[in-house]
Amino acid sequence: MVDLDYYEILEVDRNASFEEIKKAYRKLALKYHPDRNPDNKEAEEKFKLINEAYQVLSDEKKRTLYDRYGKQGLESQGFEGFDHSSYDDIMDFFESVFGQAFGGGFSRQRRKEEKYPLDLAIDIEISFEEALFGVQKNITYSYKVPCEACKGTGAKDGKLSACPECHGRGQIYYRQGFMTFSQTCPRCGGSGESALEKCLECHGRGYAIKEESITIQIPEGVDNENRIRVQAKGNLSPSGLRGDLYINVYVKEDEHFVRYNDDIYMEVPVFFTQALLGETITIPTPRGERELQLHTSTKDKEQFVFKNEGFKNLHTGRYGNLIVQIKLIFPKKLTQEQRELLHKLQESFGVESKPHEEKFSTIFDKVKSWFKKSES
Ligand SMILES: [Zn+2]
Ligand SMILES: [Zn+2]
Repeated sequence: MVDLDYYEILEVDRNASFEEIKKAYRKLALKYHPDRNPDNKEAEEKFKLINEAYQVLSDEKKRTLYDRYGKQGLESQGFEGFDHSSYDDIMDFFESVFGQAFGGGFSRQRRKEEKYPLDLAIDIEISFEEALFGVQKNITYSYKVPCEACKGTGAKDGKLSACPECHGRGQIYYRQGFMTFSQTCPRCGGSGESALEKCLECHGRGYAIKEESITIQIPEGVDNENRIRVQAKGNLSPSGLRGDLYINVYVKEDEHFVRYNDDIYMEVPVFFTQALLGETITIPTPRGERELQLHTSTKDKEQFVFKNEGFKNLHTGRYGNLIVQIKLIFPKKLTQEQRELLHKLQESFGVESKPHEEKFSTIFDKVKSWFKKSES
């Protein structure tokens, strides 16, 4: 790697004041912080250099040495830079500066040596009704805490050694032609450390399981596969940080009601005479009984809308509609009496009951005229 000048690394002038250097350091350190650049080796390398540069240039004595004699001048005085330091040392330095000067605000949430992710997801199933109205739920779930015996390292007595695969570098290098490539060490996952002997307590996993019960409020209108985030209720890291708990909500299907977007659909069977008579029927809806006014020309699959009786939209707060679809029911069999009554009813409608005759007569005439033409 090319050895960059410390002033160039911090992008400041050689005559920059302490305040200017600090400002530049702050800007760049935040930009290349590993939390903001997960799994980005280049950013990590840059972050390392920025911290190294600042460590020198923020120190009056070191800066003078560096200005006069360069890096060698520093090394002759016992300063090693961060070349041989661990990730932890750099983070310690960064936090020592940021913690005081800029109020911190960064966590060590994504440190590589963690044996398990801090965020945790669980699934819960709720009923259609609970999704419609919202519900308070008590949930008992398991989360990970660092194994006490090995302090979360997974190594016997917590003793980690330099990874034998990458010799503690976290990277392995290989050549292809005249090029050298590097990749994250598969054995240690880039931490450079490895457990040569496994912790007997946790079998090298680095964690133990704990149970916790929490009460959460599932909001009115929650939909299938929505996710609820509960802050700091996930897994516990060896450094004492807790990740977040994500609750994946699954809504059970209902026998009678179907959700589509924020609307609820239901089917109402109506006997054909009720429709013809334009009766008002009482229907059971998710929000209680409602009166449905039919009309003489009610058709099969006709929809009636009850405004704002659907689901509450979690984002807009507006309610969807309840849509009632009619299913016309006809008798399967007729008694002799019913047959006679229907005949009477049909007769009472007169010509109105034979709409096809009028239509067909014109068609018959038309077809007849075709034949006449072909005959002549
Ligand atoms: Zn390794
Ligand atoms: Zn252990």
